[in-house]
Amino acid sequence: MRHGFISAITPESISKMPEPDLLTSRPRVLSGMRPTGKLHLGNYMGALANWVKLQDQYECYFFIADLHALTTDYADTSNIAPNTLEVALDFLAAGLDPKKCTIFVQSQVKQHYELPLLLGMITPLGWLERVPSYKEMQENLVSKDLTTFGFLGYPVLMASDILLYQADFVPVGQDQQAHVELTREVARRFNFFYPRGGRTARDAGKHPDIRPVTVARWEADEVLPEPAVLLTPSPKLPGTDGRKMSKSYGNTVLLTDPEPVVRQKLKTMVTDPARIRRTDPGEPDKCPVGDLHKVFSTAETLAKVYDGCRSAGIGCIECKSWAANALVQILEPIQIRRAGFTEAQVQEILEDGSSRARARAEQTMQEVRAAMRLTLAAPAAQ
Ligand code: SF4
Repeated sequence: MRHGFISAITPESISKMPEPDLLTSRPRVLSGMRPTGKLHLGNYMGALANWVKLQDQYECYFFIADLHALTTDYADTSNIAPNTLEVALDFLAAGLDPKKCTIFVQSQVKQHYELPLLLGMITPLGWLERVPSYKEMQENLVSKDLTTFGFLGYPVLMASDILLYQADFVPVGQDQQAHVELTREVARRFNFFYPRGGRTARDAGKHPDIRPVTVARWEADEVLPEPAVLLTPSPKLPGTDGRKMSKSYGNTVLLTDPEPVVRQKLKTMVTDPARIRRTDPGEPDKCPVGDLHKVFSTAETLAKVYDGCRSAGIGCIECKSWAANALVQILEPIQIRRAGFTEAQVQEILEDGSSRARARAEQTMQEVRAAMRLTLAAPAAQ
């Protein structure tokens, strides 16, 4: 099966992480998810499953982006805290291990309020208005008034999330690369205005006594290093209506769905429209159920699907039950792990993670404040 990479952590195996300095030799990775409620298979395959692998190779910070939820849900915040807990449970159920990575809540790290303000001072308005999702979301979420300062500025909040941890890599899908690019531009602009040591790169260019090698060394020693994209392989995962699996389409299979619910959801899933009667041959490459098989089923089952569908040797009901089997198999260990955590354990993990994140973020903020000269000047020597 393809889900052998799920980490075998159990609630009992969880204890406090080693101190950060034991981990700092590994490149740093940061990623987050909004607390929109229980996570679904699309979230799992698009991000979480990859994070579980990354925690073994990198120094990872994974967070629940509750401040981002405010950019669209500011009028009713009642669901944000309960959803934060659900997402944390799903993180742990999927196999994130707080001994290997730092899991935290964005709003519990006050530096996430400070850096966006400072970076907002230097981010040109045009950069924000050009972000493709700005117009798109305003058009799609017509029931919400998104003509707010907070919504326009969410890419600055996102850039701050990344830069606060001086992350080397950000794991994202193809469609989110623009956000990382904007983060890189903001970092570049910050480093240009506020280098370490107080002399700007512009100064360096003007002074004949400063050789390029010195400039290069300054660039390598920037306060806010530019993060690189770590492209996440995200397989095409259709929802039950054939569109991309997404909470807003109401077509998801949740990580918490019990077996009967999974089977029922798949029974109503759309198929290749060419298969009207049982005797009509079909094409798995044109069928959302076929796409599910490609992601979750064994090679043997997949071969049976191609053969049976194209020859009309199997019916769609049978084919869907095979897909349901594969989904149930991948969800089972996730659900068992989830059931083993108490709310108190999750709270403790989040508090511990947030405290570690605060310590790391504060290191960056001290460098930022110093570079921007936002510290009290030392009294002049007598
Ligand atoms: S047999 Fe399977 S792959 Fe073929 S159309 Fe039916 S559900 Fe889709």
